[in-house]
Amino acid sequence: MTTEDLSFVIVGHVDHGKSTFIGRLLHDTNSLNTDRLEELKAACFALGRELEFSFITDHLQEEREQNVTIDTTQIKFKTDKRNYTIIDAPGHKEFLKNMLTGASQAEAAVLLVDAHEGIQEQTKRHATLLHLLGVRQMMVLLNKMDLIEFRQERFDQLKTELLQFLKTIGIMPAHVIPLVAKDGDNCVLRSERMNWYTGATFLDALDQFTCKNDTAHKPLRYPIQDVYKIADKRILVGRVESGTICQGQEIVFLPSQKHTRVASIEVFGKTNKKEAAPGESIGITLADPLFIERGEIACAIDAPPPIAKKIEAHAFWFSPHAFEKKDRIRLKLATQDVQCQVEKVDRIDSSTLNTIEKDATLLHTAEIGKFILVPEKPLVLEPFDQIEELGRFVLEKDGEPCAGGIVVSTHGTL
Ligand code: GDP
Repeated sequence: MTTEDLSFVIVGHVDHGKSTFIGRLLHDTNSLNTDRLEELKAACFALGRELEFSFITDHLQEEREQNVTIDTTQIKFKTDKRNYTIIDAPGHKEFLKNMLTGASQAEAAVLLVDAHEGIQEQTKRHATLLHLLGVRQMMVLLNKMDLIEFRQERFDQLKTELLQFLKTIGIMPAHVIPLVAKDGDNCVLRSERMNWYTGATFLDALDQFTCKNDTAHKPLRYPIQDVYKIADKRILVGRVESGTICQGQEIVFLPSQKHTRVASIEVFGKTNKKEAAPGESIGITLADPLFIERGEIACAIDAPPPIAKKIEAHAFWFSPHAFEKKDRIRLKLATQDVQCQVEKVDRIDSSTLNTIEKDATLLHTAEIGKFILVPEKPLVLEPFDQIEELGRFVLEKDGEPCAGGIVVSTHGTL
C-alpha cells in the first residue's frame, strides 16, 4: 500500500495561537519523542512554567534558524491515513517564492482565528493571498473558545461573518471548527466542553482533504524531457504529471498535434511494463516514426488541453531587478520554454494585496503582477486549478529566473 502525503500551511494573525496549536498537534499525535518532550518539560520547569505548547514550536523554529540554508521548516506528523507536512516559512516573501516556484507547495490551508478578538485585517489578507496562490482546500479554526465561555452564539456569529467574507473572494471552507489549542479541544480529541458542536475535529477534517495523487484520475499529461536513440529505438523520456499512460494507448502530442500509439513503456532494469502513473519517470517508444522533441506533451486523445493565445496569470516578482513591460521574458512550464510578450500587468503589493497600479509599465521586487501574457509560439498549459503541473511556471529575463507564477485562465485557442 502506498502512503499518501499532504502538505498544508497554517496561517493566522500573530498571537492568535498558531505556535500553541502546532505544539499541541505534535503532542497529541505522539509526534514528539519522549526524550525531547522531557527535555522541553524540564526547560519549562526551570523557567517556572508548565509545559507550554508554543514552546515546542518555538524550539523547532530555533533549530531551523541554526540551519540558514533552508528557507522553510517542514514539520511532519502522521495519522493512520497519511503523512502530513506543515509548511512554515520564516517570512511572507519566502513563503510566496516557495509556493509559486513549487519548492514547497501547500495543497491545503488552515486559517486560524482568535474567537475572542475576531477577524482581523491580516486574516483577510492571508486568505486572499492563499486564494491568489491557487490553494483551494481550506478550513477555519476558531481558537481560544475558552475566552468566550465556549458560547455557541458567538461561534455562529463569527462563522457567518467569516463565511460571508470568504465567499467574496471565492473560498468555501470545508469546515469551521471551534477550538482550544491550549487544552486540545477539537484538535485531535473531541471537546467535551462544546457538545453543541457535532462537526469534525481538526484531525478528522484534515484527513478529509484530498491529496494531489488524485491526479491519476485526471487526463494524461506526459511532458517530454528528452529523446534518446538506443540501438534502433527512439525513446522519449519524461515524467507522468497526470493521468496514466498504458502500452497501446492512443495519444496526441501537443503543440504539434501528431497522433500515434504507445508501442512500449521503457523503464531501466524492468521489462514488460504496461502502465505508468503520475510521478513516475519513464521512457516510451511510439508505434509510428514521428519526430518529437523536448517540450512536446503527450496528452489523452479524448481530453487534450487547449493551446491558448493569451494567458492570465499571477506571478510574484522576486528578482532584485524591476521588470519593464517592454522586456521580453521567457516562460518555462513543464519542459516547455517559450518567449512571451506582456500585454498588460497590474501591480499588487504582496503585503497588503492592494492594487498599486493598473496597466503598469514597471513591476518591482516583491510585488505580485496580474499578467496578460501572449506566447510567441504555441504553448500547452492549463489553469492551475485543473492540473497543477501544467499551471505553474517560472519567468526568466536574460537567462535569470525572476518570478514564479500560476496560470489563472487561458483565452482563445490557436
Ligand atoms: P502565535 O503568535 O499565533 O504563534 O500565538 P501563540 O501560540 O504564541 O499564542 C499566543 C498566546 O495565546 C499565548 O499566550 C498562548 O498561551 C495563548 N493561547 C493560545 N491558544 C490558546 C487557547 O486556546 N486559549 C487561550 N486562552 N489562550 C491561548
